[in-house]
Amino acid sequence: MNLDLDPTDRAFRDQMRTFFAEHTPPEFKARIRTGMRLEPAEYTAWQKLLHSRGWGAPSWPKEHGGAGFTPTQHYIFESEASRADAPMQYHQGLELIGPIVFTFGSEAQKAKYLPAIVAGDDWWCQGYSEPGAGSDLAAVSTRAVRDGDRYVISGQKAWTSYAHVANRMFLLARTDPQARKQAGISLFLIDMDTPGITIRPVITMDEVHHTNEVFLDDVRVPLTALLGEEGKGWGYGKVLLDRERGVTAAFTLRLAQQLRGARQAAAQALTPGGTMLDDPRVADRLAQFELEAMALETMVMRTMAEAASGQDSGPRASMIKIRWSELLQQVTEFWTELLGYDAAPFGAVGNQPLAGEGPWPAKGMLYARVTSIYGGANEIQRNIIARRALGL
Ligand SMILES: Cc1cc2nc3c(=O)[nH]c(=O)nc-3n(C[C@H](O)[C@H](O)[C@H](O)COP(=O)(O)OP(=O)(O)OC[C@H]3O[C@@H](n4cnc5c(N)ncnc54)[C@H](O)[C@@H]3O)c2cc1C
Repeated sequence: MNLDLDPTDRAFRDQMRTFFAEHTPPEFKARIRTGMRLEPAEYTAWQKLLHSRGWGAPSWPKEHGGAGFTPTQHYIFESEASRADAPMQYHQGLELIGPIVFTFGSEAQKAKYLPAIVAGDDWWCQGYSEPGAGSDLAAVSTRAVRDGDRYVISGQKAWTSYAHVANRMFLLARTDPQARKQAGISLFLIDMDTPGITIRPVITMDEVHHTNEVFLDDVRVPLTALLGEEGKGWGYGKVLLDRERGVTAAFTLRLAQQLRGARQAAAQALTPGGTMLDDPRVADRLAQFELEAMALETMVMRTMAEAASGQDSGPRASMIKIRWSELLQQVTEFWTELLGYDAAPFGAVGNQPLAGEGPWPAKGMLYARVTSIYGGANEIQRNIIARRALGL
């Protein structure tokens, strides 16, 4: 989207545009464009490159090692990255736990964890969901019992993304089983090599190993693993919800990539009358998606402006989450339909994996199913809208 920028921000935009054009590895682009994820080592290399420029944490304040961007600069940074098909930074350390640590953590925790997140030296995973606690997260039953100078943690976490890669986990555990649901929950920062942690892979339908089951059997961690106060873990999560608003905004800017990919695929697919783009049904669908993506981006900018001026955006973050996830699913489905067999990384005969980088929109399409489930399922977002916007 074209912004009316002042000269300082225009110079910043030009700097970012040049950086992303020159430094985005070409081998990432096809995967990024279809909405697929990179390999963990690739994310780490990208994080280290940004860190070397002082942009390791674009959304953090300078005092904690962040880039200290203004909201406009942050928006420009993300949209220029999207424009160049550059990867997003992996978010669980940067956007989920890092800000909780700098807001509520002890000085020792800040010194230990924040620099390693920004530098790409630590990989964090999020141990919130459990088999009986997803949407109803307050039902977590993993227990942390104090025993001398240790907490002993036992339970099971579900769907833990990249637990097999991470060296640290932030997890919710119940420290007071007598307290009301939310009140007895605490937040812990633990090392993944602590004895008693077992990780079992869960392969998702895009045939990638993103997620895991994590079993915690009498995992003994020091008292310093507790973040903030015992029993206050639920409240710290509220900061996380505010941060997730920013993460969704960044995701939304990425829709332009899938739209460009789908348009290019249609323009290259030959038909007896020209290309698929000459078919008014195809051109109409693409134009409709593009208009909706622009409308969504306008809403994101409004939400960012409100956040910068300390205003409450009401349930708008929920509205953005729903619309973004639906659009992403629809666009990647449409792109897959356009390409047919060629959308998947398998030959039509023998189902052998094909060489090369794609684009494979079928993979992105399958992965996109998760966007209406994680970060608060869309039904839960609709409940929030019903409560906060409609007063139901
Ligand atoms: C690929 C993937 C990666 C994930 N990564 C992580 C991670 O790294 N860390 C982590 O902690 N979690 C992670 N999750 C878990 C995710 O947050 C949960 O799947 C999500 O919160 C939904 O919980 P659930 O799966 O238990 O479904 P449930 O909560 O059982 O919901 C099942 C269905 O019922 C609906 N529903 C539930 N309650 C209501 C209600 N009150 N009103 C209306 N409808 C309702 C839901 O919307 C959903 O459609 C991941 C999930 C996936 C699929």
